[in-house]
Amino acid sequence: MTNPPMLRIHQVHKSYGAHEVLKGIDLTVQKGQILALIGPSGSGKSTLLRSLNMLETVNSGEIWLDGVQVNQPLTGHAFERHINSVRQEMGMVFQHFNLFPHMSVLRNITLGPVKLRGMSEAAARDLAVELLEKVGLSGKAEAWPSQLSGGQKQRVAIARALAMRPKVMLFDEATSALDPELVEEVNQVMKQLAREHMTMLIVTHEMRFAAEVSDRVLFMDGGVVVEEGTPAEVFSNPRQERTRNFLRTHLAA
Ligand code: ADP
Ligand code: MG
Repeated sequence: MTNPPMLRIHQVHKSYGAHEVLKGIDLTVQKGQILALIGPSGSGKSTLLRSLNMLETVNSGEIWLDGVQVNQPLTGHAFERHINSVRQEMGMVFQHFNLFPHMSVLRNITLGPVKLRGMSEAAARDLAVELLEKVGLSGKAEAWPSQLSGGQKQRVAIARALAMRPKVMLFDEATSALDPELVEEVNQVMKQLAREHMTMLIVTHEMRFAAEVSDRVLFMDGGVVVEEGTPAEVFSNPRQERTRNFLRTHLAA
């Protein structure tokens, strides 16, 4: 028997009131794959990522993570348990760094493993030190978030997500709020994760980075998947007019 995909989205619909934002999204990410999700502002990319880790409730369709259905009609304690397990298995890094400002860098990283995974303080500390080294921030363990640059904060946010040993990492424009000179240091960390075959779904408006980091590229517009393929297919030989128009403006930048 073959393994299920790490992430499978089938005919997902999501509306805000009468405004349908996701109009039947299908998407699959295999274990170890890196999918770049591109598309104009307002096309539904963030709504899709937020739906994956249950920050939004979809109206219909199915979301599966490693063979377990994410969107289940649960209530009460069963719902709480389910949402906690889904969020532990999907690490999410947003545009705006959301570190806990009143905790040291180290504590930001150890809190989840200790509170949610039941890891000992000592083991969590070792893990945090290892992950800080991985994101190029050895020596910042005792710093406060306010003492860090935007790029450093995003790298701590990545380390914090990794500390939960997630099955998938979701990035929603992780570098778009950063000063240009800080973008590369965060992109480098994501590229390193890609080399280690971390399964990732990366929303980005940086087309060159998308082409470099991903195995597959998916172009969304107006709540639908317009086109999907390898980076070479989508960027060098787009089949759809809408993709061509989008790339004309975004590749020039
Ligand atoms: P993207 O991330 O691709 O820019 P979004 O998923 O943020 O797109 O938004 C898609 C559409 O959904 C936009 O028209 C946006 O205004 C709308 N939208 C997003 N979040 C909400 C919300 N909480 N309530 C109402 N409309 C929303
Ligand atoms: Mg967005």
